[in-house]
Amino acid sequence: MIYDLAIVGAGTCGLFAAVNSHPLTTVVFDKNSGAKKLSITGNNKSNITNCMEKEDFLERYGKNGAFLRDSFKLFFKEELINFFERSGFDLTCRDNKVVLKDKISQEFAKMLLNKAKKSAASFREYEPVVDILKDKSMFILKTHKGIYYSKNVLLACGGKSFPATGSDGSCYNIAKKLGHSIVTPNPCEVPFCCKDVKNLQGLSFKNVNLTLKTEKRRFFECGDILFTHFGISGPAVLELSKNDFKQAKLLINFLGINEKELLELLTKKNRKIKNIVKDIMPKRFVDEMVKIDKYSKEASKKELKEVVDSLLGFEVDVEKCSFNRAFVTCGGVSLREINPKTMESKLTKGLFFCGEIMDIQGSIGGFNLQAAFSTSFCAVDSIKNNLYSTT
Ligand SMILES: Cc1cc2nc3c(=O)[nH]c(=O)nc-3n(C[C@H](O)[C@H](O)[C@H](O)COP(=O)(O)OP(=O)(O)OC[C@H]3O[C@@H](n4cnc5c(N)ncnc54)[C@H](O)[C@@H]3O)c2cc1C
Repeated sequence: MIYDLAIVGAGTCGLFAAVNSHPLTTVVFDKNSGAKKLSITGNNKSNITNCMEKEDFLERYGKNGAFLRDSFKLFFKEELINFFERSGFDLTCRDNKVVLKDKISQEFAKMLLNKAKKSAASFREYEPVVDILKDKSMFILKTHKGIYYSKNVLLACGGKSFPATGSDGSCYNIAKKLGHSIVTPNPCEVPFCCKDVKNLQGLSFKNVNLTLKTEKRRFFECGDILFTHFGISGPAVLELSKNDFKQAKLLINFLGINEKELLELLTKKNRKIKNIVKDIMPKRFVDEMVKIDKYSKEASKKELKEVVDSLLGFEVDVEKCSFNRAFVTCGGVSLREINPKTMESKLTKGLFFCGEIMDIQGSIGGFNLQAAFSTSFCAVDSIKNNLYSTT
């Protein structure tokens, strides 16, 4: 059998491509059962897209944002929200993030998986594609179970982040063999690994001020953080991780006030220092970090300074964690070799890309899922146009 379309990867964009592929005869491959990453997005409340207007939206992808302009013209947040609402998923906008209202990510991943299975002529789970060759106008796909033929191929294999979900970067080599260059993949939106904070595991803080001191520069961010068993995570850390560095010092101001203001607070009433700090910080933090157990009147300047430093200048040596913990991959198939209007390779006719395998990444806030859905829709639309305009 010769398929119209072979989709490699049943993650976000591969599944959505299958859903939209009717009336093409489509085969879908995944090295797992599919939808694994999607089912853990947004900490169970998938952040599907963002309420921002288009121009601001595009800016959230940095210098490569313009690449998405054409696919957004075809399929943007309104169309995506509409698709989910028609599929029985209510959405709500919180702090600009469009998230699932009642249901959880697993249900939403399952819905997409079921729809994709219904649409595809063949859905091949646990069957990774290991090689793809092009022979005249036909692609030959190899797996450990057999050989498949297709007029078009959509590489929807994701990047290298969270490889346990299936996206281990194995398709970069396939893209390379088909003529494409790969912008070196790096872990992005990745927590910071560090040794010294295990005792704070489980504590989270809102709106803290962070300063990242790298060898060359300082970067600032304000937002929420979470101490974990391996280091520090949370939206503010993930945003800082996009900067170019390997090791750095992270300075945390938990309270967003200055030294003078905190000293006033600590010395205004003659109470035990620990009790004053417990009014503004979690008890466990105070038990771990505030060693001085005196009344504020009795505390020396040096002792007060130590308390101030642990609350306003908490310093940790950090490094980016590996791909195993990264939310997205920076880098991937070079955008210079992909037509942004069609998602087709400029080098190999009939070869298409969507989602995170490409060198495009957005900020936290639903930008990566929107890019995956929009580029997927655009690719399938072009494949249909190509097939039906030539037959
Ligand atoms: C924990 C976590 C939470 C996230 N939350 C959000 C969020 O709330 N909002 C947001 O916008 N983004 C979020 N993201 C990012 C977002 O999930 C991804 O950007 C998006 O899923 C990428 O979609 P994709 O289809 O390109 O890749 P994936 O969803 O990674 O799918 C790739 C698929 O390809 C398969 N595959 C790989 N190689 C082969 C092969 N050789 N043969 C066959 N199959 C193969 C894999 O098994 C996998 O199923 C999150 C990421 C993580 C890790």
